[in-house]
Amino acid sequence: LRARLKDPSLLVTQAYVAGAWIDADDGATMEVRNPARGDVICTVPNLGRAETARAIAAAQIAQKEWAARTGKERANVLRKWFDLMMANQDDLGAILTAEMGKPLAEAKGEIAYGASFIEWFAEEAKRIYGETIPGHMRDKRITVIKQPIGVVGSITPWNFPNAMITRKCGPALAAGCGFVARPAEDTPLSALALAVLAERAGIPAGLFSVVTSDKKGAVGIGKEFCENHAVRKLTFTGSTEVGRILLRQAADQVMKCSMELGGNAPFIVFDDADLDAAVEGAMASKFRNNGQTCVCANRIYVQAGVYDAFAEKLSAAVRKLNVGDGLEAGVTTGPLINMDAVEKVEEHVADALAKGASIITGGQRHALGGTFFQPTVVAGVTDDMLVTNEETFGPLAPLFKFDTEEEVIEKANATIFGLASYFYARDVGRITRVQEALEYGIVGVNTGIISTEVAPFGGVKQSGLGREGSHHGIEDYLEMKYICLSI
Ligand code: ADP
Repeated sequence: LRARLKDPSLLVTQAYVAGAWIDADDGATMEVRNPARGDVICTVPNLGRAETARAIAAAQIAQKEWAARTGKERANVLRKWFDLMMANQDDLGAILTAEMGKPLAEAKGEIAYGASFIEWFAEEAKRIYGETIPGHMRDKRITVIKQPIGVVGSITPWNFPNAMITRKCGPALAAGCGFVARPAEDTPLSALALAVLAERAGIPAGLFSVVTSDKKGAVGIGKEFCENHAVRKLTFTGSTEVGRILLRQAADQVMKCSMELGGNAPFIVFDDADLDAAVEGAMASKFRNNGQTCVCANRIYVQAGVYDAFAEKLSAAVRKLNVGDGLEAGVTTGPLINMDAVEKVEEHVADALAKGASIITGGQRHALGGTFFQPTVVAGVTDDMLVTNEETFGPLAPLFKFDTEEEVIEKANATIFGLASYFYARDVGRITRVQEALEYGIVGVNTGIISTEVAPFGGVKQSGLGREGSHHGIEDYLEMKYICLSI
């Protein structure tokens, strides 16, 4: 990997804590593997609570001076960080593909997407407006100011090793907060590369740290975030299961939390849909990142009149996917992140087949071996199957047949999750009814791609708390202070 980088210094094997590049206090390390090849890329420090506490203490000190700067001063530093990310897009993309597996073009796309949050929130740093409220008595003047919440602890998953962090640290740093990032154990290298560029951009020492650890270490780091009084906010992206644990832990300190949790996205194709567009949207939504996103279509509902035609067109598109090592040219679909992920897809396929579904294409581990899996379409899926109720997080497109609008809305909403949803239709009355009826934080209408830094991303129900992106995104990192002045 190092040989293919234009700037090999972006591939670092130490953690970035309190403005210094460090090893673990006890010298512990962990391996970072390439999921396409199974080999070890390098090792990074396996940190614990002690190093995390030092990162928090440094962030608390650095944050005071950072918050005292003007919005424009903070914006200028963040803008430099954005520029450096874009200037190093190829290298950051290659590092990301090597540790996570997504095809290089997608990885580079993620770098641009991730960087866009730094750019967007750099601009927003200048627009943290307060408010004046007419006084309630003749001698009273009321103002409301917004201030940074303080030090933020962040825990992120492996599926977007860059963007899941920038979506959080962009608004946090723009608001004037300090930030301690704990990247996923599978993908620490992208986070460390971000730290190299943060240092070069002039982010003050200590303000932004990256504490790397294995999965066991994450538990201790999560506890440190929740028990250390200097941390005033926890931001997490990951499963609903772990989100619940962290919310419980955070309750002891009454800590403000943002949670981007699991989804179970319905993707609905009505009879009046443009079928080719619907297939294109389904491919993007379902198979991007090999099905490993929390907004991936998980249940594809197709109205009876177009069911067969849609199934045929979708399967034809799926058969054209080119599975392989994401660093090789022409590959559209990488490996799954690990063997657990493969087993989950297998379990969902086997359960669906046992309960009466049938495979149209795929359905098995790929001949390439390792964690590669065939892009799969399964037809005749029903409500009692595992795939209906759990996020597959893999390349499995399950097709359900439905008859009426009322029926499909009820099915689409019959889940504890409420992150993304999609539907394809042309009738304007139907479009209006369905977009209002879907109990989701995000609705894609006639599109399978909804992620952008300018819009508020987030879920309802057990999919989460808070929103990331857009002018709303910075609010999660601000406190409101009401000042009552008697004159
Ligand atoms: P995923 O399936 O995407 O890995 P998880 O919710 O299991 O989703 O993990 C998301 C992140 O949270 C990972 O980086 C993981 O190491 C971390 N994590 C898992 N359990 C805990 C915990 N109890 N406390 C803190 N972090 C955790």
